[in-house]
Amino acid sequence: MASTRELTDAMVVDHRSPRPDAAVLRLDGVSKSYGRVTAVHDFDLTVRAGEILALVGPSGCGKSTTLRLVAGLERPDSGAIRIGDESVASDRDWLPAERRRVGLVFQDHALFPHLSVAANVAFGLDKWRARRRRERVNTVLEMVGLERLSTRYPHELSGGEQQRVALARALAPEPAVVLLDEPFSNLDRKLRSQVRADTMGVLRETGTTAILVTHDQEEALAVGDRVLVMRDGGTEQLDSPDRVFHTPVNRFVATFMGEADFLPARRSRQGLVCEVGPLSPAADVAAGDEVEVMVRPHDVVLTPDASGPGFITRAEFQGAFILYTTQLPSGRTVRSLQPHTVTLPIGTGVKVGMTTDHSPTLLVGHQTVPRHS
Ligand code: ADP
Repeated sequence: MASTRELTDAMVVDHRSPRPDAAVLRLDGVSKSYGRVTAVHDFDLTVRAGEILALVGPSGCGKSTTLRLVAGLERPDSGAIRIGDESVASDRDWLPAERRRVGLVFQDHALFPHLSVAANVAFGLDKWRARRRRERVNTVLEMVGLERLSTRYPHELSGGEQQRVALARALAPEPAVVLLDEPFSNLDRKLRSQVRADTMGVLRETGTTAILVTHDQEEALAVGDRVLVMRDGGTEQLDSPDRVFHTPVNRFVATFMGEADFLPARRSRQGLVCEVGPLSPAADVAAGDEVEVMVRPHDVVLTPDASGPGFITRAEFQGAFILYTTQLPSGRTVRSLQPHTVTLPIGTGVKVGMTTDHSPTLLVGHQTVPRHS
């Protein structure tokens, strides 16, 4: 990988680059159905210059369709899409994929097997003058650290290297936005984290605006400046990774974006309490509301105590951590993530508490109770 300095020197200055706060991509009320299946419904989105947006959601929620609409591989039934200053899809406008300033990176890399690395990267530059094309290919290969492999063919590369060629090819024509569809899911786990770090490094160093689709919530939290949680063709939450994880807007986001248990909470003289102790909520709960508190396993504290009131029913070894399930007197269970050095055999009595370093999320029904601003 090239250093920041080398990259900065090597980057071609794009005079069309938008201001850092400008919207590079806008979707307004975009809908797309396939027969009776609504894949994307009345979808709005603004992506800012240099931003990396992680699009996450369960299989079939419309992530790939959204990317395909932006790329021009699908036409919206209604709504409008703008890339930079250009309207690329609306009632009146339609710009085909090859004329949109969009780079694509797919899961299977989709490299041309009969073309060398350099020829793969040069593929989208056929309208460029030969000298400029050569320089640009060298520049992007240097960005992704593949300059020494330019004459190889895809079958002579590792999975990680193929992924880097795919990224270089997407970046070569200086796109306004790069779309990555599950780009790391074909790589084995260990390679995946390295390739992901390298890819995100290149995107950030080059200030590239990108949308990355993943079904993996940990990946979304790790790579996104903002995370868009999709469900049934629409947005459930669009927020910083921290807020999506700690202050989900509803039960779906809470459970999709991480392990969560829910315990009923009630008003008492000390304020709001749940079965594992008092809560310090940052939200007002109306009298009579049936409130639940979201409990993430890393917030649950266990203290061994023969008299309970809880006891360990399950232990899941996760390497550095052990995920303990504890049964409470009510019969409900909560999970607690402990370092692997904490050994609590099944049946061990424990006191259960919650860390108090942040205000827990409260729900009434499926919706989060709004916090004080
Ligand atoms: P995701 O990427 O989140 O898994 P998709 O965007 O691929 O979801 O799909 C959204 C919905 O649209 C799904 O119900 C899927 O079956 C349907 N769908 C996607 N593409 C097509 C297609 N070409 N023809 C028919 N149905 C499709």
